[in-house]
Amino acid sequence: MTERRDKEGVVLEHVSKTYAAGQAPAVDDFSLDVAAGEFLVLVGPSGCGKSTTLRMVAGLELPTSGTIRIGTCDVTWLPPKERDIAMVFQNYALYPHMTVRENMAFALKLRHVPKDEIGRRVAAAAETLGLTPYLERLPKALSGGQRQRVAVGRAIVREPAVFLFDEPLSNLDAKMRVEMRAEIVRLHHALGATMIYVTHDQTEAMTMGDRIVVMNAGRIQQAAAPMEVYNRPANTFVASFIGTPPMNLFPPGVYDLARTTGIRPEHIRVARGDDSAAASAPGALKAVADIVETLGSETIVHAIVDGRRLSVLARAPGDAVVAHGDRLILVPDMSKAVAFDR
Ligand code: ADP
Ligand code: MG
Repeated sequence: MTERRDKEGVVLEHVSKTYAAGQAPAVDDFSLDVAAGEFLVLVGPSGCGKSTTLRMVAGLELPTSGTIRIGTCDVTWLPPKERDIAMVFQNYALYPHMTVRENMAFALKLRHVPKDEIGRRVAAAAETLGLTPYLERLPKALSGGQRQRVAVGRAIVREPAVFLFDEPLSNLDAKMRVEMRAEIVRLHHALGATMIYVTHDQTEAMTMGDRIVVMNAGRIQQAAAPMEVYNRPANTFVASFIGTPPMNLFPPGVYDLARTTGIRPEHIRVARGDDSAAASAPGALKAVADIVETLGSETIVHAIVDGRRLSVLARAPGDAVVAHGDRLILVPDMSKAVAFDR
């Protein structure tokens, strides 16, 4: 019978996928080792190949070349049902005529799992997800967040070695997204299972992942722990994709003759235009405040550097007094600057 197997790692080796001859590959030479029990987030803009990568791990798409292993088993050509994975999609279609309990039990019934075992697993998953009071309800009588929980519950009851999530929170409102984010992280701690989570949302990636893989145009740009990606982005794509507001990219000539210099907005101090000590600090730039966003907890200042068509973002304290048109001196912490060859 479908016994609980140990968590397993996932390995992709030089995996590529081209949907149609003559088209650019959707996934291009993707190699990655996902450790057993790891929470790995694939993040990147729409169309960069995240879903294609995940669907190849699931067996819903076949690679054009390369190898995929789950644990020690080469699954490259195995159908989905032989892969010991469960997938949660953005459009989690629940069966509308089945109750929450029946929705969660359905896949197990198809696999002829004994009735009492199904009952035990559904009860445990419902408890974990706070769905116990709703087990006899139909999906139409649930909120969006509760429905998404049922979709996650359907995956949990199968007790797979690997969970795959494809933008599971994108249809939820902002508040529910934050709650479900924490819940999925809690679930990972509770189950200890290997999870691969796809999102275009860099905040989800930063807050959820043990490790983040940033993709663009089918290729891995960087694979590292969230703070490593944040502090040491591998290239200008990663630098501008991870972090809100984004890292400032100073073109060659401002700080470095040959290379682009990246400085995060929180590493730029905003001083008044008549602050002569600030003006003589290393890297200081004279500027004029353009747009000032007052957020309460902080103030985002968009400033235009004198004599250059260069817009710079700085994060000032919430009580900073800055207005459009004010003369400013921007003082970067050059010890936090990152140099990019491209
Ligand atoms: P993401 O999930 O990052 O938004 P996808 O993996 O869905 O990206 O898509 C990657 C690229 O492959 C895109 O250019 C997309 O248009 C293309 N693509 C995805 N699925 C198919 C398909 N079934 N047939 C042809 N092209 C596809
Ligand atoms: Mg997608």
